[in-house]
Amino acid sequence: MFNPDNLVRNNIRNLKPYSSARDEFKGEAKIFLDANENSLGSPLLKWYNRYPDPMQWKIKDKLSVIKQVPVDQIFLGNGSDEPIDLLFRCFCQPGVDEVIVFPPTYGMYEVSANINNVHLSKVPLTREFQLDLEALESAIKPNTKIIWICSPNNPSGNSIHREDVEMVLNNFDGLVVVDEAYINFSRQKSLVSDLADYPNLVVLQTLSKAWGLAGLRVGMAFASPAIVAYLNKVKPPYNISEPVQELALKALDEIGQVNDMILQLVASRKQMEEELARSSSVVRIFPSDANFLLVEFTDAKGMYNYLVNKGIVVRDRSNVLLCENCLRITVGTDAENLQLLDAINSFQNR
Ligand SMILES: *Cc1c(COP(=O)(O)O)cnc(C)c1O
Repeated sequence: MFNPDNLVRNNIRNLKPYSSARDEFKGEAKIFLDANENSLGSPLLKWYNRYPDPMQWKIKDKLSVIKQVPVDQIFLGNGSDEPIDLLFRCFCQPGVDEVIVFPPTYGMYEVSANINNVHLSKVPLTREFQLDLEALESAIKPNTKIIWICSPNNPSGNSIHREDVEMVLNNFDGLVVVDEAYINFSRQKSLVSDLADYPNLVVLQTLSKAWGLAGLRVGMAFASPAIVAYLNKVKPPYNISEPVQELALKALDEIGQVNDMILQLVASRKQMEEELARSSSVVRIFPSDANFLLVEFTDAKGMYNYLVNKGIVVRDRSNVLLCENCLRITVGTDAENLQLLDAINSFQNR
């Protein structure tokens, strides 16, 4: 039976975490003189002179209802970047342990591995951007601690086959992190509802994409209470600021509006797909379950520079494995998409 206590680094298992004033006394009181705050106030109209809730319980209460996950299985971070880094710091011994990623994928797993001096093994996705389970099997070593799966995958946009993810979850005895940053745009079901079946599963989500709050920096990790407890032990005490907590709380009341935006972005993506397919500069468009398209061009570099000259920036992925001659294009507003398509069509006739 998987037990994170056997996987976690010794220093983290034995760590006595920092105990903040807000941890030690949680109740109501008349006077708070326990945290060396400025009792007079602050230069801002809304004061913010008090430390925020270190555990962000109000947000977790709301997320618990939305995601149907108990509050002790939710971790909140300063973007997804924070739980990504914390997972390395909790579970990977620098210079000893290893993780596995499936390129082409999100760059942060590798950066975080390098920062933490953790060896990263690359098992390329297949031509269809799916897991190569045979290659994965031979890449797993006794000191492999984490397998990072991004689904829907960035930059390819497709979802990873559910059966393959389940195969990894059932057969690997380290952590399997499934990054679902784009899950709201996907036809696939989130793995959050299956946490009870997989004690080694960590699901990452974010407010940065479908929720439209990239500027806020709020990332979520859903996992067993034991894994979440380790992340909480290591995180900086006040990792989500008070104004961010207030804004996130407000946003979580507007699911209807967010769902409307998701429908609109998915419809726009389909329309862009159809229109791009008519362009003679486009070789192919990869199937997307996200709010972006990976598009192969006859001359990606030429197209990229041509668009930049017209003031339109897309992401050049042409130097990335399996993405030769590809640009990654985010679905924009109707007006932005129209300008992009006009520019792409004028490239052929230039
Ligand atoms: C955009 C993105 C994220 C989000 O990162 P934040 O730090 O939450 O903004 C996470 N994973 C992937 C694959 C992404 O593309």
